[in-house]
Amino acid sequence: MAVSGIRFAGQLTKLYLPTVNQVRRLNLLECHSKVLLQNYGVNVQKFVIIEDPLEAKDLREKFNVDEYVVKAQILAGGRGLGHFSNGFKGGVHITKDVTKVLPIVEKMVGSKLITKQTPKDGIEVRKVMIAESVDIVRETYFSIVMDRGWNGPVIIASPAGGTDIEKVAEETPQLIKAFPIDIFEGVTSDLATDVALFLRFEGDAREKAATEVKRLYDLFINVDATQVEINPLAETGDGQVVSVDAKINFDDNAQFRQRAIFQLDDKSETDPQEVRAAENNLNYIRLDGNIGCMVNGAGLAMATMDIIKLHGGQPANFLDVGGGVNEGQVHKAFEILTSDPNVKSILVNVFGGIVNCATIANGIIKATKSLQLKVPLVVRLEGTNVGTAKKLLQESNLPITYADDLDEAARKVVKTVM
Ligand code: GDP
Ligand code: MG
Repeated sequence: MAVSGIRFAGQLTKLYLPTVNQVRRLNLLECHSKVLLQNYGVNVQKFVIIEDPLEAKDLREKFNVDEYVVKAQILAGGRGLGHFSNGFKGGVHITKDVTKVLPIVEKMVGSKLITKQTPKDGIEVRKVMIAESVDIVRETYFSIVMDRGWNGPVIIASPAGGTDIEKVAEETPQLIKAFPIDIFEGVTSDLATDVALFLRFEGDAREKAATEVKRLYDLFINVDATQVEINPLAETGDGQVVSVDAKINFDDNAQFRQRAIFQLDDKSETDPQEVRAAENNLNYIRLDGNIGCMVNGAGLAMATMDIIKLHGGQPANFLDVGGGVNEGQVHKAFEILTSDPNVKSILVNVFGGIVNCATIANGIIKATKSLQLKVPLVVRLEGTNVGTAKKLLQESNLPITYADDLDEAARKVVKTVM
């Protein structure tokens, strides 16, 4: 869980739904998410997207509003409170002066934005949203997530939304409420009204909020989302309810029927190794440590990372080669592991159920030779044909350390980097 929790969780769902298992789920930029919101009739502000600051010239002619909000587009939240690698403060700026927009955009594009949800060095900004600023008088938090515990969608809501929602979760958890949804019934009018009430919308705004809740649920179901997070779901001075910030994650298993959405996947922010791994049907996520791991099965991969940590080591990655791994994929996996300069040692932990250990052993031997492996390699295999596999490894005369169980394997591999 640690793996996905860090990288893909939303602002609150990370605290509330630790069981959501997200190895790789499509995540869209705010601007793309808002287009989907518009398609489902959800109330969002007018906006344009630019990639080149020059496009922000003569803005008044192209996009004329009383007040502008300029927002850096990266696949991470917390932008408002973030800062740029060039010292510029804030990934969200509001100005009434149209001549100030261009200089803001210039400071954002090409610079890295660092927020509490990005990697330490931040993420380079390539796109900027220029929107009509919303006259916000109150910010609420609204999300819908697929919850393993409930076995269905759950609305999470708080009348105290905005950039400090994590603090609300820690200090005043009574201000956050979960509303489980019966997937067969969907969001009934009663449920939508309950949510609007809890969000403290009053008068006409209550009805409007309930309508937005229903539309957001419609979107959630129809695009196969695993998470729709609106923070803030804002109330305006004239009683409108507007989705000011949006984050949507999609179930990768639904790719076949959500092609148009998956085409919006902006891989430029994804670690190239992760893209390469995904192309080879390998679940790979880079981490901060120095012990490269190759494991079959997500659960075993988690357990392997835990045991490495237990023995004082740090995994360099999560890598699940899957149940039906073949020799070619073993080779790809080794290519990916060895191309990471942080990897100082490798642990292979494969449980042969469907997988034949001898196939894995052959894959390891070939990869070790052809890639001229320079770092220590510890291998633990168990299951189908393990005897043959062991023999193959021994007879290869390669400097491979063999381990009989996971604990021994972890101890041995940690020792190589101490
Ligand atoms: P985040 O920091 O990545 O969550 O980005 P948001 O889009 O949520 O913006 C951060 C904060 O900036 C919001 O919580 C609002 O307080 C403020 N903000 C964003 N857009 C607008 C806007 O159009 N009008 C006003 N008044 N404030 C905004
Ligand atoms: Mg936000």
